[in-house]
Amino acid sequence: MFAVDLSSAEDPLPLLPDGLGAFEDLRGVAGTLSADHAAILAHARGLMHWRIRHRFCGVCGGPCTPRSAGHVMVCDSCQAQHFPRTDPAVIMLVVRGGRALLGHSHRFPRANMYSTLAGFVEPGENLEEAVAREVFEESGVRVGRVVYHSSQPWPFPASIMLGFYAEGLSDEIQIDPEELRDARWFSRAEIRNHKEHGFLLPRGDSIARRLIEDWMAAE
Ligand SMILES: [Zn+2]
Repeated sequence: MFAVDLSSAEDPLPLLPDGLGAFEDLRGVAGTLSADHAAILAHARGLMHWRIRHRFCGVCGGPCTPRSAGHVMVCDSCQAQHFPRTDPAVIMLVVRGGRALLGHSHRFPRANMYSTLAGFVEPGENLEEAVAREVFEESGVRVGRVVYHSSQPWPFPASIMLGFYAEGLSDEIQIDPEELRDARWFSRAEIRNHKEHGFLLPRGDSIARRLIEDWMAAE
């Protein structure tokens, strides 16, 4: 198996032999693929992204050459080896007294979608601290116990989402307007009937949705 970077081509389709297929955005079709195929394509997508951004050595600035079937970039000048990196991000459903905290981020493509809070892990911080810090920064809510749920690779461009439940210790919400447009506590009934209440939930194949659905099912 191999992957080719055609991102510089204006129209990549004529570069393929006739009738071989079409190009689709992986993010759009990942949910329709088998887990095996999605994982392989995500791997290729992640490696491509990393390769394109590591053409030059971060130590000495010299050009790098791919080795080990593209899984290592080796500097032609100082021989430093550069490996693909994956950035850990935490994504969490904060729950308190039968309600869950969902927010609307400026980044969301749909104006009325509410989802779990999320953010990147910072150097020197453990995952529980990252959850507590992100929730407090974005919503002003203090959290106590943090419990791991599941994870999802997110190679757009180079993350893995680590999903948690977090116990909310305070009710008052004070959003960070740089990050969020809104955040609210929602009951299970409101989430179950979200369309009637005028909001959308994240896509069914997302870890955010799994966190929400599993919390709903645990009633
Ligand atoms: Zn170098």
